[in-house]
Amino acid sequence: MIRFFDSHAHYDDQRFKNEFPGGTDGALDYSFENNVRAIVNSGSNLETSYNSILLSQKYANVFATVGIHPTDSQYIKKGELETSFLKIEEMAKTEKVVAIGEIGLDYHYDDTVKEVQKYSFEAQLDIAERLNLPVVIHTRDAMGDTLDILDKHKNVRGIFHSFNGSTEIISQYTKRGWYFSYSGPVTYKNATNVKNAARYTDEDRIMIETDAPYLPPVPKRGEINVSAFLRYTCEVIAELREKSLMETAEITFNNSCRAFGIDPSMFM
Ligand SMILES: [Zn+2]
Repeated sequence: MIRFFDSHAHYDDQRFKNEFPGGTDGALDYSFENNVRAIVNSGSNLETSYNSILLSQKYANVFATVGIHPTDSQYIKKGELETSFLKIEEMAKTEKVVAIGEIGLDYHYDDTVKEVQKYSFEAQLDIAERLNLPVVIHTRDAMGDTLDILDKHKNVRGIFHSFNGSTEIISQYTKRGWYFSYSGPVTYKNATNVKNAARYTDEDRIMIETDAPYLPPVPKRGEINVSAFLRYTCEVIAELREKSLMETAEITFNNSCRAFGIDPSMFM
């Protein structure tokens, strides 16, 4: 039986509550009914990190990451950043928390405060190192600075979420034990760069994700994304790599278990 591992999603997002039939529970049940066997729900601030843990406690097949997204770090009052990191570190010790994330740098918006983002990124890389947890990296319009910071934290390993970087980065970070996760954009017609990267990524390093409710794949663009749609992303990656859908689902499933330190026998 085919099975999918969605390595990155946000089921506590308001869009599920407001727009999906049955809300978050409806979206998860629908995905589980469609061969999704594991989901990592990603935190992006204190509230969503806590929500991720709650979801992981409610559903056997949901795991959590806790962390502060670079853009969210800018909304935390100056004196409260340190306390926030302490809370993240405490939450990270909860059962079923499998990574620190999503963390990184995002220079997309005009109000970007690079110094706050870099400070927050490094503080959380330190947490990951202390707790020996992988990190989930969000990087947008900031790859150079992201890699510079990762170079200063060589003991930290993790996953590049929604990866759209170069094959040189793949080669370099594969040697250092990193993983590369691909999302809906790999199905977009003009996404030459992402398609190349997905083709190039080593068989034991490739993962897939939805980033639900964002980034729906073709042919679901315009809809709220759910893990059940992961199969469309998997299909395109299977084609690019000249493998069957079944094999690709299984390869990415096992890689995700390894990347997050999840015992695959729990899904038998
Ligand atoms: Zn995300």
